[in-house]
Amino acid sequence: VYAIAIHGGAGVLARAEMTEARARTYERGLSTALCAGQQLLEQGGSALDAVETAVAFLEADPLFNAGKGATLTSEGKAELDAAIMDGANLRAGAVAQLRHIKHPIKLARRVLEDSPHVFLVGDGAERFALEAGLDIVSPDYFITAHRAYQLDQVRLRLTEQGGFGTQARPTPLTMEEPAFGTVGAVARDRDGNIAAATSTGGMTSKLPGRVGDAPVIGAGTYADNNSCAISATGHGEWFIRTALAHDIAARMSYAHCSLEDAVNAAVEMRLTQLGGAGGVIAVDAAGTIVMRFNTAGMYRASVRDGERPLLGIY
Ligand code: ASP
Repeated sequence: VYAIAIHGGAGVLARAEMTEARARTYERGLSTALCAGQQLLEQGGSALDAVETAVAFLEADPLFNAGKGATLTSEGKAELDAAIMDGANLRAGAVAQLRHIKHPIKLARRVLEDSPHVFLVGDGAERFALEAGLDIVSPDYFITAHRAYQLDQVRLRLTEQGGFGTQARPTPLTMEEPAFGTVGAVARDRDGNIAAATSTGGMTSKLPGRVGDAPVIGAGTYADNNSCAISATGHGEWFIRTALAHDIAARMSYAHCSLEDAVNAAVEMRLTQLGGAGGVIAVDAAGTIVMRFNTAGMYRASVRDGERPLLGIY
């Protein structure tokens, strides 16, 4: 069996703002990405290719906070992070602080395949992309009117609240109208391998230079055939501090939890207890899919071999 799950972020619109028509556009974006990944798996493709492909589709969709339509820094610029990991051999590629790479996830894949390193950032990462022949775009490519508006709104609220808060005290901002989004995918292919990929613009009004959890292996992205593949979304600082993706994998490896128990425990006992907001999608080597969040919703979709696709927002 194969299985694939994707997310378009735990920062969903408030129910009151989610008209039927809006919901349909989000669902269309998710379906397109899910189908692209599924098609590959159906033809016997690898989980690694499937998660990269699904995430690349979501990066191209301006609705989601990754690639085009990414959230903006406090200076109004897009700074992109991404990571991909192969559960078969624990190879990983991660990139951060990108400003000109059309598809950060494709660069993460090149880092995994063609470099002796795991994590490249900033100018060096962009030079590596140039040499790899990836699409380079002007920084304006990423910026949409909606994200510019969102930045203004968040700036306003942050001024009223006195900033993002300290690390110990979460900002209430995250629960109501979240400043995050992110996209990700996890998959299990017919050979029994699993993989994870995550790509993001980060959080609205983040400080320039801030890197979130998405590209941090073990925080927002992780895959190991012996346990599970995880892609996270939410307030990244909390996922880094709890090493949440690896926490889930460790519960399976060391405490022999099922995927569902591991995800529930990590989200409830680590993330929620600390006051962090967000969610994860997960798949194990048997093709079980689990999706959990402690926010109002999480754009998500999944499908397993021979079954009907599932789509959800709240
Ligand atoms: N986790 C991402 C970050 O903190 C944001 C998100 O999920 O939207 O960069």
